[in-house]
Amino acid sequence: MNLYQALRDGFPADLDTPAIDAEGALYSWRDLDRGSAMLANWLARLDLPPGSRVAVHTDKSVEALLLYLAVLRAGLVYLPLNPAYQASELAHFIGDAAPGAVVCAGRNFGWVSQLAFQRGVRWVFTLNDDRTGTLLDRASQMSDAQQPVAREPGDLAAILYTSGTTGRSKGAMLSHGNLLSNARTLKDYWDWRRSEPPNLAPRERPSAGSDDVLLHALPIFHVHGLFIASHGALLNGSKMIWFNKFDAAAVARRLPEATVFMGVPTLYVRLLQEKTLDTGCMRLFISGSAPLLTETWHAWQARTGHAILERYGMSETLMLTSNPCKPSDGERLPGTVGPALPGVGLRIVADDGTPCGPDEIGHVQVRGPNVFSGYWQMPEKTAEEFTADGWFKTGDVGRIGPNGYLTLIGRSKDLIISGGFNVYPAEVEGFLNELPGVDESAVIGVPHPDFGEAVVAVVTARAGAQVDGDACIQALKTRIAGFKVPKRVLTVAALPRNAMGKVQKNLLRAEHAGLFT
Ligand code: ATP
Ligand code: MG
Repeated sequence: MNLYQALRDGFPADLDTPAIDAEGALYSWRDLDRGSAMLANWLARLDLPPGSRVAVHTDKSVEALLLYLAVLRAGLVYLPLNPAYQASELAHFIGDAAPGAVVCAGRNFGWVSQLAFQRGVRWVFTLNDDRTGTLLDRASQMSDAQQPVAREPGDLAAILYTSGTTGRSKGAMLSHGNLLSNARTLKDYWDWRRSEPPNLAPRERPSAGSDDVLLHALPIFHVHGLFIASHGALLNGSKMIWFNKFDAAAVARRLPEATVFMGVPTLYVRLLQEKTLDTGCMRLFISGSAPLLTETWHAWQARTGHAILERYGMSETLMLTSNPCKPSDGERLPGTVGPALPGVGLRIVADDGTPCGPDEIGHVQVRGPNVFSGYWQMPEKTAEEFTADGWFKTGDVGRIGPNGYLTLIGRSKDLIISGGFNVYPAEVEGFLNELPGVDESAVIGVPHPDFGEAVVAVVTARAGAQVDGDACIQALKTRIAGFKVPKRVLTVAALPRNAMGKVQKNLLRAEHAGLFT
């Protein structure tokens, strides 16, 4: 079935109730259905061959979400791109994905259309975050009725480029079935609530008041905001309070009206700096995309009384594990990402592929209906990342406790082997971050003639503080085994981060490769 149809089946019976409140502009469920139909009818007019990609390089807006739904309805493949990407980055993605159509912000039309047309793209439209642009002009001429194109579960719905934390971004091919199965699992596991079941006559409805309301403040060019957050609300017929950009003060002002919030860890850190946080109506705070410090978890609980639910997923697999939501499923434990979601297979294996026992550290491998079919135009890379028995190698390192909860330790690519000993950067970073004056740290391995790899730390200083690298080394020697202590501690102004805010250790490794050779 077409994923859109499944989401549409979750809309409330009364389509004239508010679906999205976007800083004052209200959209009803009927608006979502009609708006996405008009856009889908326009896309159908373009006569793109089946499977064509529609690349979307726009700012966040409700209309951009409608465009996503329209691409699903039209049976095409949605390809979101971070609007911060500049010409050389966009040229790579457009060249790689060869989309049939590109939609961009009006202010970028000149350079985007030029590089798109040069690469054989036939259509380029504009879409702005103030409801203007050529795409909406064209769609406004179209009928507002549209039958979603029939799709099989294995048919491609979207290609999501990975964040490029460990190297060049790869296009993860996700099907209608991948997305729908994950959305349904999360609807149940996170206990999405609606007092009005779909398609019940009004008089049969239970009393109102317990409906979930999602506060949506994440970007919609990656899995977290586009799929996990939006699908959750749409499939459940839950209203969204929508922000095109995250602004801590504005979000804090609307929190009293919401019951569910999803954020990356830095959003929680920024919200904690707000004077007032009224979370009285909140049911669920969810964090993911990057490690949530236990410090932040505890600070949030002390401030609001809420235990943040941390979960783990990736572009290639959607959500894999989650701390429990319902008390009957267990406790939320800070520092862990919870047990495998229902239907997801999770295992830890050693370097040679043999299974690890409880609490043994190894490579995280997964399988399930949520796991993608492969990387776009990279059959060899795809083959490398799956085991002979069909498990996907996540590239993450972790351990599973006797209670089944997964704790992530870091990335396989970041693991350091120094003098034959394994060093887990996250452990050393934890100790470094506690030293006076240290704000952030990134621990990497660089080539070393004696040790194979040497541990090196790159740190930033807190505002107004100075970090003395040798003093850090001396302090660490009293806290951790000698082989884990960095041979050098280098101070920099800022750590290199990608668009998702994740530290790019590959760049640090390249920069410091010559330190000992
Ligand atoms: P690339 O694959 O291009 O190097 P990436 O892996 O950062 O980039 P994404 O698919 O956006 O791209 O991110 C998935 C990764 O994010 C996971 O493999 C994991 O390392 C990290 N991650 C996600 N959730 C969590 C979490 N709760 N705690 C720690 N890490 C997480
Ligand atoms: Mg990855």
